[in-house]
Amino acid sequence: MSHIAFIGLGNMGGPMALNLLKAGHTLSVFDLSPAALKTLADAGAGVATNAIAAVSDADVVVSMLPASRHVESLYLGRDGVIGRIRPGALILECSTIATRSAVAVAKAAGEAGLAMLDAPVSGGTGGAIAGTLTFMVGGPADALERARPVLLAMGKNLFHAGEHGAGQTAKICNNMLLGILMAGTAEALALGMANGLDPRVLSDIMCKSSGRNWALEVYNPVPGVMDNVPASRGYSGGFGLDLMLKDLGLAAEAAMGAKSPIPLGELARNLYALHSGAGAGALDFSSIVQLLNKRSAAAGGGPQ
Ligand code: NAD
Repeated sequence: MSHIAFIGLGNMGGPMALNLLKAGHTLSVFDLSPAALKTLADAGAGVATNAIAAVSDADVVVSMLPASRHVESLYLGRDGVIGRIRPGALILECSTIATRSAVAVAKAAGEAGLAMLDAPVSGGTGGAIAGTLTFMVGGPADALERARPVLLAMGKNLFHAGEHGAGQTAKICNNMLLGILMAGTAEALALGMANGLDPRVLSDIMCKSSGRNWALEVYNPVPGVMDNVPASRGYSGGFGLDLMLKDLGLAAEAAMGAKSPIPLGELARNLYALHSGAGAGALDFSSIVQLLNKRSAAAGGGPQ
């Protein structure tokens, strides 16, 4: 068993850290939110007063923060923790961030005698709670072997995407597809409702037809169609719309760098930006259905 520092205990990091405790690891945790820290303290984790204190005697450091700037500031900033982590320790950076940020952290870690993997996840908060996440790992294969028992306490699928940054590139591609699928699913359901269909019936039909996809099957965006999804709890406790917008921005950045066309990814990014601009940024990303459903209603369609 390892002594693990866990930084970032939000919708994903909180349940991931709880699963590490359940697997028998000892934890030293840090987050800016006192409520998030209390949940972990109640479960038996040691609470650190800052990130440096959390990492000081860790064998493994796991971070699950919102975006590149938070990760760069944790590891590389003026008070960055890289120089405070025990040499020989392993960093597992699980946030979704720019590929170049993951590579920059890996380079600094290597110079300090630390192994680092980018290991972003897929599976949503349901997967984080159930310990069934998919990890997309970038970095050396021997570091992945060292990380395997820790990652398998939080997930069930581990993929080695390639060298440093490759895990983030895979994650950015996956989330661009997810953003497109959720917008498309919401659009189809809004169209059906505007034409008098019950969204439960339409969802059942499409789940057994060629429009079937993850958003429809496990994350339905229409309130009341499915239990235990953000749409049925006021679009809370899931994957924030502004985090999806960030990921579509990362896709746009990757596309520009590689001169790769992403017409649907850009269209999806604009839809989420419109909805965020209308005040929905803190809601779950499946609330995109509100934007599309309102339009159907404004055009004389059926119930919202
Ligand atoms: P979240 O906003 O719920 O949690 C982020 C946590 O980081 C918060 O508790 C916040 O207080 C903490 N934090 C921010 N700055 C900090 C700092 N400097 N030091 C310590 N703690 C700090 O976000 P989330 O939904 O848990 O997502 C985390 C990452 O995982 C993001 O990169 C997101 O894109 C990715 N992700 C999210 C999901 C999902 O379904 N929510 C799925 C896959 C990947």
